[in-house]
Amino acid sequence: GAKQAGGRRVHLFDPATDVVRGAHYRIVGELRQALEDPAAGGLWVAYQPLVDLVDDQVFAFEALVRWEHPDRGPLPPGQFVPHVEASELIVGLDRHVLRTATHQVAHWNADRRRRGLPPLRVSVNCAPRTLADPGLVSTVKDALAESGLAPTSLVLEITESAVVQATRVVADRLATLVDLGVTIALDDFGTGYSSLSYLTHLPIGMIKIDRSLVQDLGSSAADEAVVSAISSLARRLGQVVLAEGVEDQTQLDRAMALGCRFAQGYHLGRPAPARELALVAVPLAVPHVRAG
Ligand code: C2E
Ligand code: MG
Ligand code: MG
Ligand code: MG
Repeated sequence: GAKQAGGRRVHLFDPATDVVRGAHYRIVGELRQALEDPAAGGLWVAYQPLVDLVDDQVFAFEALVRWEHPDRGPLPPGQFVPHVEASELIVGLDRHVLRTATHQVAHWNADRRRRGLPPLRVSVNCAPRTLADPGLVSTVKDALAESGLAPTSLVLEITESAVVQATRVVADRLATLVDLGVTIALDDFGTGYSSLSYLTHLPIGMIKIDRSLVQDLGSSAADEAVVSAISSLARRLGQVVLAEGVEDQTQLDRAMALGCRFAQGYHLGRPAPARELALVAVPLAVPHVRAG
């Protein structure tokens, strides 16, 4: 189904019970090696636009890790991220993506400043173990200081599985990041462990509604009701809502009508290497947003 096709994580990988334990350790070992020299190891970062539907402008990019495996060719994140997430190595991978992405977007923003354009944001995924790492705040501060990116230009995406495990220490860590100016986004909302209490107990600034709730907008009255309810709750809590995985104009129109101010998906732009976005300093309008 769509979940497999997108290569998305559907459950946490458990190396202890998986029959392909050997493959797990091979992937983790190879990725550990790749991280020692990321470019030579085939690691790179793709950027997918996040669009503000009020003015049809790209306001941010999500940084998505890519691995061009030296022997096996391009591996979708769904085939290696869950393995890495089951290991402490994910902390180093997420740090690498954070550093790469903050440098890239700081560079774009310097260009945009010269042209009188507002700064872009960058949204970086943060695995449960990364969130649990006591070094996270200093990693973020260092990445911001070294890149020169404004803290208000950084969004960290956390998932519900991280949030269900969130201790008081993690909640305080999130509050510290928010105090710095960073925005916390709750990724893939509406799947798995969704509980409304996370929205009120953690300093969540953005809710990203999972693709599985977005794909049937226009045909499923039930999914429309859920998206509408999430939107109105978010508005009351001062949080913004983004619809993930928008693949056509119907989904986009319905998401907007149901109160999603922001959207992301193949209909608006696919993840792409930075060099293909070299003109990002200029063409930020997404003209076909209202085409349908
Ligand atoms: P995610 O964070 O929810 O990222 C969105 C995923 O949906 C991306 O898959 C993106 O390419 C895909 N997508 C975007 N628009 C559409 C659409 O219209 N239709 C469909 N079918 N898919 C769409 P990708 O790049 O394969 O990444 C999969 C997952 O891997 C991510 O889901 C995230 O959970 C994880 N991931 C990716 N990069 C990183 C990273 O640097 N660190 C960590 N911890 N996880 C990452
Ligand atoms: Mg994400
Ligand atoms: Mg997501
Ligand atoms: Mg996801």
